[in-house]
Amino acid sequence: MSEGAGKAHEKRKIQAIKGVRDILPPETALWNRVEQTAHEVFATYGFGEIRLPIFETTELFARSIGADTDVVSKEMYTFATGYDPHSLEESIPGRTITLRPEATASVCRAYIEHGMHTLPGNVKLYYMGPMFRRERPQKGRYRQFYQIGAEVLSHSGDLKDDARVDAEVIEMLTTFFEKAGLEGTALYLNSIGCKECRPKYVELLRAALAKVKDKLGPDSQRRIETNPLRVLDSKLESEQAIIEKLPRIAEHLCPDCLEEYTEVKKQLAMRGISYTQNFRLVRGLDYYMRTTFEITAPGLGSQNAVCGGGRYDGLVELLGGPPTKGIGFAIGTDRVILSLQDMRKLPVERALEVYVAWMGEKNYPAAVKIARRLRDAGLAVELPPGEMKFGKALGLADKLGARYALIIGDDEVASGQFTVKRLEDGEQKKLGERELVAYLKAGEAP
Ligand code: AMP
Repeated sequence: MSEGAGKAHEKRKIQAIKGVRDILPPETALWNRVEQTAHEVFATYGFGEIRLPIFETTELFARSIGADTDVVSKEMYTFATGYDPHSLEESIPGRTITLRPEATASVCRAYIEHGMHTLPGNVKLYYMGPMFRRERPQKGRYRQFYQIGAEVLSHSGDLKDDARVDAEVIEMLTTFFEKAGLEGTALYLNSIGCKECRPKYVELLRAALAKVKDKLGPDSQRRIETNPLRVLDSKLESEQAIIEKLPRIAEHLCPDCLEEYTEVKKQLAMRGISYTQNFRLVRGLDYYMRTTFEITAPGLGSQNAVCGGGRYDGLVELLGGPPTKGIGFAIGTDRVILSLQDMRKLPVERALEVYVAWMGEKNYPAAVKIARRLRDAGLAVELPPGEMKFGKALGLADKLGARYALIIGDDEVASGQFTVKRLEDGEQKKLGERELVAYLKAGEAP
């Protein structure tokens, strides 16, 4: 490569890769508010935060999510490490790690690894953070996206208890959405049966689909064999009338599943939570059973699900742990933010309170001192690093939206009396340091 070409290469702008994005201020203030709401609401329901690794062994996801799912078969970011992640010395070629596409599997792994089944009562954990899936990017669908999720793991209780736990988890979610300010959400509910009744229903569905095969598109035709439940998910206009007439799982539940589903609905009604039953809600992940739900929000176009969840009894066992029941959900934080923005629920950013307009190099130390004093008192202060003419400094203070300009020149430093100007109406005062803090904090002279 010639020297010239090398330089051109160095100067080329480097951009974020497809499907990932930066989240900038002031939007980050909204993210923080939403996340803070989750911390607060979940704590009132007795959930504790778990911080999980961003990457795990590929096997964890392959085993728990299911090799036939879209997530595992084509959406995971998987890397060869060249060594066994459990032992740096031992080199096992072909062993891979994966950026987490979701976090339920990790929560279950951690539950087993830390022997949490010995803890008293149900184990209630929540998490928040980025997930990674190689999906086709569009509005509300990214390759690095964020989830806030919670899980309840239990090793005792009957069907009725399970239904109450399901309903309480949904109650916590509706409380979260309400406190986060999200309006117009809708809850959709279904039961997808268990390993007793679902396979029988799947066969029934497969037979019904075989009869209408010619009227279906190529994707659905293929799924009759591979995963007939996914046909119910189809958004193809031409297939909608056909899907409406297919057998519905809620009508083919075994007695236990029916008992739990009936009880969940009763529990939701008792809590005043409205829902719509949706027989087409079949969750993409293999380990779900019985209760499944989804919450949608307005302003999102086709990607309008802001939360998906359900019961996954047996997942912990599948990962080598003791028999354990589980129920959980994951909220798509990106979509919650998009919906809030669509409703014009914008964050109130921390406003700049004081702009320190200082002049004269020798007065800079005094400006530093007073800025620190004001920040100690909790005020948001901007201290320009370079000297500026007062006119220019006041102009900048105005553009930055500062409430006050604090003027520090020779006279102020000599007398210890600072000139403070309220930018809204130009009112000026001369105050000593102590009165100044009180005035700026209270917005009026002491
Ligand atoms: P899932 O883990 O697939 O059940 O998804 C739970 C929630 O995460 C969905 O309802 C979405 O709100 C969100 N979500 C899933 N995939 C993406 C993605 N690629 N981009 C943004 N949000 C997503």
